[in-house]
Amino acid sequence: MLNKTFSLSQESIDLEDKYGAHNYHPLPVVLAKGQGVYVWDVEGKKYFDFLSAYSAVNQGHCHPRLVNAMIEQASTLALTSRAFYNNKLGKCEEYICNLFGYQKVLMMNSGAEANETAIKLARKWGYTKKGIPSNEAIIIAVERNFHGRTIGIISASTDPDSRNNFGPYMPGYQIIPYNDLEALETALKNPNVCGFWLEPIQGEAGVFMPSEGYLKKSEELCKKYNVLMMMDEVQTGIGRTGKLLASDHEDVKADILILGKALSGGMYPVSAVLADDEVMLVIKPGEHGSTFGGNPIAANITMTALKIIKEEKLIENAAKMGEIFRNRMNDLQKKSSIVTLVRGKGLLNAIVIKPTEDGRTAWDVCVALKENGLLAKPTHGDIIRFAPPLVINEEQLLQCCDIIEKTILEF
Ligand SMILES: *Cc1c(COP(=O)(O)O)cnc(C)c1O
Repeated sequence: MLNKTFSLSQESIDLEDKYGAHNYHPLPVVLAKGQGVYVWDVEGKKYFDFLSAYSAVNQGHCHPRLVNAMIEQASTLALTSRAFYNNKLGKCEEYICNLFGYQKVLMMNSGAEANETAIKLARKWGYTKKGIPSNEAIIIAVERNFHGRTIGIISASTDPDSRNNFGPYMPGYQIIPYNDLEALETALKNPNVCGFWLEPIQGEAGVFMPSEGYLKKSEELCKKYNVLMMMDEVQTGIGRTGKLLASDHEDVKADILILGKALSGGMYPVSAVLADDEVMLVIKPGEHGSTFGGNPIAANITMTALKIIKEEKLIENAAKMGEIFRNRMNDLQKKSSIVTLVRGKGLLNAIVIKPTEDGRTAWDVCVALKENGLLAKPTHGDIIRFAPPLVINEEQLLQCCDIIEKTILEF
């Protein structure tokens, strides 16, 4: 036998390759276990997780309280559908509404579903409250957005990989550049516009941050033109950027808030849309829903996941660790010939990699990081996002900075 450890991983990779759809291009690592900031592969090698399942695992892998919330509820009552009430959903809804400061919440499962829900809410509000003529509502979206993978959502995408060959597309969007207030105001003047849909920081696009004041000014413009601000905080929310919401950095309160990912700490697919009565109550019984949305397991886990964020002070930790991390990366940029840019907020950060003369790219950097015990994933060819679980402590973070520095300086 050439190499037993190699073959263990290879077996899983080959199976996925042979039987699974090829809709992802994973890094060649096969994970079998996780705890806190660490994951282990099938050979037992330990890694720092610097992706956190795209920021779903903010609370850390297999948080004991989440595991308990899951087991307890799964062995008591798992699913009723919304045809009946259950004794967990109401308490969870109350907790979410109070925490984020909205009158109502609507729970779904995936981030994409929550965004679809937001689109439906904005459109129906547009027809029934703003008086937009039937079937003429427009939602303004921005370039480089990422809101999920449904047809309704990718119809607003400007990413060819997300979009091409999946048409015909859903009409009713106007796409404007991100971070462009002039374009926004021009678009908002169309009286058929019901919503302005954006991420406060564009995570999937590669952690693109708007200029300071963009979100606040956008909020004012939306108010001025009676248009709903639809904020997708699926990736940026729940402490990731060093505030509960990334919108909080500019004191912005969206009319429709879209949450997912870390809402359940990665334990279960849970998403949610929040709005006040004026907006949320435009949807009446029978007009929208989901068999699994708001199920007792989801409700029990979500409440626990949000309490962990507060009680373990993960927001404060994200802010503090983020500062340390960016300082180290900025130092690294001065020393490295391939790091051209460092950007981010809290523990949502990215570096931009210039390919080496012999053609090695961000992908090769991520493979080398993996060899050195840290998992991160390149996005859009030249960007590496660094987003560890928010439970990371300073000692662990510094160890990770050392790994990244050592790896990059070898290029
Ligand atoms: C991940 C993500 C989504 C989609 O969430 P899914 O659960 O994968 O459907 C939507 N919006 C943003 C900003 C995301 O990062």
